[in-house]
Amino acid sequence: MEKDIKTKCPHKIDLGAVYTCSPKMRDMVRAGEFVAQYKELVFDIDMTDYDDVRTCCSGASICLKCWPLMTMAMRIIHRALTEDFGFKHLLWVYSGRRGVHCWVCDERARKLGAAARGAVAEYLSLVKGGNNTKKKVVLKYNNVHPSVRKSLQIISEYFEDYVTKKQDLLSTPEKFETIKGLITDDKTLKCLKQLADTDKLGETTVQRWAGLKAAFLSSMSEEGAKCLDAELYEMPHNMKEIMLQYAYPRLDVNVSTGVNHLLKSPFCIHPKTGRVCVPIDINKVEKFDPFQVPTLHELTEELAHWKGEANLHNYKKTSLRSYIATFDRFLKGLTNDPVSDIKHEKMDTSESIHAAVKSF
Ligand SMILES: [Zn+2]
Repeated sequence: MEKDIKTKCPHKIDLGAVYTCSPKMRDMVRAGEFVAQYKELVFDIDMTDYDDVRTCCSGASICLKCWPLMTMAMRIIHRALTEDFGFKHLLWVYSGRRGVHCWVCDERARKLGAAARGAVAEYLSLVKGGNNTKKKVVLKYNNVHPSVRKSLQIISEYFEDYVTKKQDLLSTPEKFETIKGLITDDKTLKCLKQLADTDKLGETTVQRWAGLKAAFLSSMSEEGAKCLDAELYEMPHNMKEIMLQYAYPRLDVNVSTGVNHLLKSPFCIHPKTGRVCVPIDINKVEKFDPFQVPTLHELTEELAHWKGEANLHNYKKTSLRSYIATFDRFLKGLTNDPVSDIKHEKMDTSESIHAAVKSF
């Protein structure tokens, strides 16, 4: 593999399934004999799908004001996959530009059929409808799924800061109307109108957010309001829906469902940004900054200016070091797992990939 990479010098590498025979042979075998056998369960989250809930950028652009959407998405999906489905071996990778990928590598996940993959992706999808749908999250009253409750807990750690500081989401009457348009509760709407009629609503995002919260609280019984202090996620119904619409992960379901779908390999270089598709340490996901990820150009500079020990692997002389360490921990977890099917006799494959990456 290392030899091939060096001679062919591919623009990028996409990874797909393990097939019943080598892809080279696909035209030589009978129809139906070239079949995908295993594939990691993958998730693709792309910032372009969030354009209706971010004001700082659109399309392929990202900045630190909208990146918290990805942080929340990674934490929510990671929690659900590990706690609700019991998967252990997840690799999170920065896509190099505007999103993240998740590779679930447990044997159980790699052997899932298309229907089961679709079911997992469906379980993790909550925001429904395209540009013409105004209200994209509708929850049942008093019957919110535990997984959604836990997601709300994660979102609530970020939401106020995201709305008021990062995005300034209520700063114009139009923006305020957009959020108000998602409120269906009569008491909340009445309270908002009262605040507006008595000039108590204010004009800044912070003032309007305070007014909105007060209006939401008015919709709750006294007991409900007390509960709000005790358990943060027991919040007013409409508020839950709004928080989920703005911050719940938006997955590209087709990527997860299709067994034949390809996904860019970790450690590729993004052709537009030049950044390396590095693994993300999920335990330090708060600290991950896409703009600190090294570009190919920066890596060559770091190598050229290295003054330390010459005998080290090249990657150890660059800022890629910590990302390889994350990848290393992931591989060790996978091969040391007693129930893992990737054991010594099969280790050759993973070790040679590892060696190829390290020899860079
Ligand atoms: Zn942005």
